[in-house]
Amino acid sequence: MKKTVEIIRTFPNSILKVKTKKVRDISESVIKTLDEMVKVVKMADAAGLAANQIGISRSLAVCLLENNEFLKIINPVIKEMDGEEVNEEGCLSVPGAVLELPRAKRIIIEYLNTDGNMKTFEASGFTARVLQHEIDHLNGLLIFDRLNPQERIKFLREYKQ
Ligand SMILES: [Zn+2]
Repeated sequence: MKKTVEIIRTFPNSILKVKTKKVRDISESVIKTLDEMVKVVKMADAAGLAANQIGISRSLAVCLLENNEFLKIINPVIKEMDGEEVNEEGCLSVPGAVLELPRAKRIIIEYLNTDGNMKTFEASGFTARVLQHEIDHLNGLLIFDRLNPQERIKFLREYKQ
């Protein structure tokens, strides 16, 4: 069960719709933000978080891995996508919504780690879904933006009520 965490920005907060800025300098504040994001994910009992969800419009995200460790990613980009899988997806920033969304089954991302090194990471299944979800956030996209236009309109009409 997802818990409410006050710091999390929710739809229709406009920061969620803006593409985040790339990080140029991995400063102490970037490291602190990533640590804070891990804490928020744990508090919320979630699987991942993007920085704009806590009001920071920078390209930073964290993802809980199957080994229970957190992957901290800076300026992530999806380099490869394979296959497709439809599954239920929710979002801390769209409380209460659960949507059936298609996502790539397997992805390879490229990102900077906290030491400033360019890394690649291959993920499949649930982890691949979480990473695609967080990278969508960094590009200003929310779960309902992955619905087809008609479903999206229907969702927004019903969600507002
Ligand atoms: Zn989300």
